[in-house]
Amino acid sequence: MQGLGPKLCCLFSFIAVVNCSAPKSVVFKTPVDTTSKPINYQEKKTYELVDVGVFASNEFHGARLNGFEKINDSTALVLITPENTPINNSPYYAFKSWAKQPKPFYFTFKYPKGFKHRYIPKIEANNNWTVLDSSNIFKNDSIVTIKLLLTNSPQTIAAQEIQSASDVKKWYSTLAIANKDVVTIGSAGKTPLNRDLPVLSIYKGLSKEKDLIVLLTRQHPPEVTGYYAFQSFLETILNGSEVSDQFLAKYHIIAFPIMNPDGVDLGHWRHNSGGVDTNRDWSVYNQPEIQQAVSYIERTLKRNKSKLILGLDFHSTWYDIFYTNEDRANTTMPNFIENWFTALESNIPNYKVNEASANSDKPTSKGWMLNGHNAVGITYEIGDHTPKEDIQIFGKVSAEEMMKIILTK
Ligand SMILES: [Zn+2]
Repeated sequence: MQGLGPKLCCLFSFIAVVNCSAPKSVVFKTPVDTTSKPINYQEKKTYELVDVGVFASNEFHGARLNGFEKINDSTALVLITPENTPINNSPYYAFKSWAKQPKPFYFTFKYPKGFKHRYIPKIEANNNWTVLDSSNIFKNDSIVTIKLLLTNSPQTIAAQEIQSASDVKKWYSTLAIANKDVVTIGSAGKTPLNRDLPVLSIYKGLSKEKDLIVLLTRQHPPEVTGYYAFQSFLETILNGSEVSDQFLAKYHIIAFPIMNPDGVDLGHWRHNSGGVDTNRDWSVYNQPEIQQAVSYIERTLKRNKSKLILGLDFHSTWYDIFYTNEDRANTTMPNFIENWFTALESNIPNYKVNEASANSDKPTSKGWMLNGHNAVGITYEIGDHTPKEDIQIFGKVSAEEMMKIILTK
């Protein structure tokens, strides 16, 4: 299309329904159908168990509660269903509950056939999150019941701490204000439900010819522990240390703090509002979130005449693990992974890196970094129940060591 003016190009797009701004697709061995599928929206309401005086509500962002029924005077059935199927076993739940009179009350979780309870409940009362003590969790085969002391003030019971799109915005806005000489808040576009797809552009001086590092998180809504590592990682890059100063003078970071804001606010188990796992869409970009993020990255590279050297995508799973690509010799930093992991083990007490290495057959962000840009791509996974203090340390040390290694490359 070189030589065609924008006007003419758009005329052709109109006729041929070709999107001139669509980024180049990247080929994967095992393609995945990521065209949009219907999702089930939960009915937003406050349930009342009239004769026991107990209430439950999903009327807030990030909630998931599909039904609430009385089993007996001291127990309710909590019905949780996913946005659509097939879907991974990540049954996310989040609701508020309270009672007319303070009393102990039991909640039994019910998921559709084939899904099992995964997340230990987190409880929020008076803006303070705690993990529910194991003495209040009862298992009967795979059926889980929890016990809570209800009061007339609502408590939130959730699979993971809630970090809605507006919570994320609060965090990055504060971070950007505190670092306004190096951080610019931008937008890659809008989601299908008209939420912003924010992006932070971070560097010192001019962005021209600075090699690029891409950070991503929250493709999968419940993966909040991965988001906490992303926060700690980015805060460390912006901590004003000597390494950070040198790093930002030489490199450019673009960070997407919430890749699936629709899914996050809708309380999804895994998918976006198009009913799709966006981390299988990094090939032909059927979903607007990925299409716009990729366009933003490609535009940045072109404008700055720079190359993409590293992509880190922060997620959560059962335990801490790094998913890496097997092919490294031809990437821009063939020794990065080995050096980084060695540095993490040397700098985090009693820590052993858990790595699983394979080239992505399916269209993930990690595979896109490699197949699309010969960049190092890593899925940075934090365990569902890794303590916050540990996440803070992983995020900090991994950012420090990444900066040091890249500065000496
Ligand atoms: Zn994930």
